[in-house]
Amino acid sequence: MQLYCNSLTEYSRLKTREVKIGDLLLGNFHPIRIQTMTTTDTMDTLATVEQSIRCIEAGAELVRITAPSKKDAENLLNIKNELRRRGYTTPLVADIHFTPNAAEIAARIVEKVRVNPGNYVDKKKFELIEYTDADYAEEIERIRERFTPLIKICKEYGTAMRIGTNHGSLSDRIMSRYGDTPMGMVESAMEFLRIARNENYHQIVLSMKASNPQVMVQAYRLLIQQMDAEFGECYPLHLGVTEAGDGEDGRVKSAAGIGSLLEDGIGDTIRVSLTEDPEFEIPVCKDLVKRYSLQTFPDRGGLIPTAEKIPYNPFNYSRRKTFAVDNIGDHHVPVVIADLSKIENITPQHLESVGYKYDEVLDKWNINDAAADYIFTGHQILNFDLPGTLKIIVYPAAWALAEDKTKYFPIFDESGYAKAELKSDAINFVMLDCFSDETSINDFTYLDTFSNDKTVVLCLSSKNKHAMPAVRRMFMELMNRNIQNPAIIICDSYWQTTDEHLIHYAIECGALLLDGFGDGICLGMTNESYKKQETNFKTSGRNYLSNTTTEQFINSTAFSILQATRTRISKTEYISCPSCGRTLFDLQETTAKIRSVTNHLKGVKIAIMGCIVNGPGEMADADFGYVGSGVGKITLYKGKEIVKRNVDSAIAVDELINLLKESDAWIEPLEVQNFV
Ligand code: SF4
Repeated sequence: MQLYCNSLTEYSRLKTREVKIGDLLLGNFHPIRIQTMTTTDTMDTLATVEQSIRCIEAGAELVRITAPSKKDAENLLNIKNELRRRGYTTPLVADIHFTPNAAEIAARIVEKVRVNPGNYVDKKKFELIEYTDADYAEEIERIRERFTPLIKICKEYGTAMRIGTNHGSLSDRIMSRYGDTPMGMVESAMEFLRIARNENYHQIVLSMKASNPQVMVQAYRLLIQQMDAEFGECYPLHLGVTEAGDGEDGRVKSAAGIGSLLEDGIGDTIRVSLTEDPEFEIPVCKDLVKRYSLQTFPDRGGLIPTAEKIPYNPFNYSRRKTFAVDNIGDHHVPVVIADLSKIENITPQHLESVGYKYDEVLDKWNINDAAADYIFTGHQILNFDLPGTLKIIVYPAAWALAEDKTKYFPIFDESGYAKAELKSDAINFVMLDCFSDETSINDFTYLDTFSNDKTVVLCLSSKNKHAMPAVRRMFMELMNRNIQNPAIIICDSYWQTTDEHLIHYAIECGALLLDGFGDGICLGMTNESYKKQETNFKTSGRNYLSNTTTEQFINSTAFSILQATRTRISKTEYISCPSCGRTLFDLQETTAKIRSVTNHLKGVKIAIMGCIVNGPGEMADADFGYVGSGVGKITLYKGKEIVKRNVDSAIAVDELINLLKESDAWIEPLEVQNFV
């Protein structure tokens, strides 16, 4: 395999081995399966059965249940029997960390077990040890001895297995040799996979989850390449972003990571991990999967020229090299352009939707951290004084009439720019259509008109409903031709519901940003979708959206996408686990409480984890951790270090604030105001 997928320009699913999980077939071109995990105590049979049923009724095709001890593993039988008695045959998966004994019991009961290669045999001590090759081989032998009995049971009972690597819980052995890198994640799974293959056991699914979508996407790609190189075949892949959080951010982060892979035909089953009740994960999974169903996936074959040469490294993030045009490109963070052109008469109040609030008393504009950098107003010149940092993009005819040419900039289509007599000497935006029809195939000569013109910012879009591969192909062409103009990703949504739009934007822009493409984003909607969206807000009642207008929703989605792809940090980052039977406090309530007092701390990463067994390992690169360590007890971390142990949960949020203050990471909320 030349790369990590069949094609970068045509949708083509990756062939994987077929795995049977109960009656469910996975991999080998079977539909992408949807799954989730219960959050109840596994010893509470009734609660777990009822929550599983809610998930199944919502559409889950697999339900995972944690088995932290032998007792919990044994109780899976009661849960399974009760589900079967009620007529539900959905396969169950036991989730195992640290407890091979529990795995060996569960593998005799449920249809699939999930093991974490980072902690199945190894106990993590966060130690860096120098391993000689002989030491390393000895460690692998130790894994073989402990892991082989489980394989034998799985073979005997026809049980499938997921080897589920998590970026945050790699073993000390892997960390010592590879660091917490995507390659380390791959090798962690490969150690277990090689042992299983030697035993001629193939009912295996693999996952490479991380809370950072960049790491997660690279790890899956590397794993495919590694499996192909070593075995000449691939095992099915379970996709997910761990600890994605809740609400809009959790959905955007998950969609950017999972969707980037689905776009390239990768993925046989998905789980969206949200810090919400598990049944709420299912509609998000469905929205993700339906984009790739045979009925709706458009035929884009032939429209996008095949790529002879891949001019970037898909396994290692590096931003495309550009020069700066004003504040766009080069070292500048990607800009956000808000499209206000569908508003007939733009007033100062409309700018509130995109982060600018006018204070009449002080005669000042108040700007928040998620304020758009540019607005596109179509043909409108605004009749009020603008915030100092805000610039306006208009069509050329309107721009010709604008008095203040330091605030207004024209946007041309590609032929219009070549012919235009009047151009800005600072910034000219030039629209580039990416392979919407046959006329553009293999004809790139028009790129020469503006290539490396130091005033030109390119705006890449495609009318293809799945525009990402077309826009990516254009980015590749720009790189092949050493064209270094900065480029904005223009993404229009034709979908109908708020969640569908959110997922569409996150995938279409997220996939490109994760590969280092894009110096800005501009999200829009077709006229029909825009009209529908206005009523969606009145009728949907989605509790995670505080937005009241379409423009506000689009603007906050744009900043969430940049945050999720770690290309522009504008708010606090929450790494919260989805919770499970091990959880020691109400995660949803606590996450909401912590969010309400810390959401002004731009750039600070706070992990909120349900248990001390997995939490510290899984909170990855968080700056601070709030981890359940006993009933009513919280342990606080700074990085990987414990700073306050077993704090009473009644005062734990206050203690977290104290810790932020002691660490100079705290700002009083009132100070977080900028006036321009
Ligand atoms: S960190 Fe959260 S999801 Fe993971 S095992 Fe602990 S409680 Fe469960």
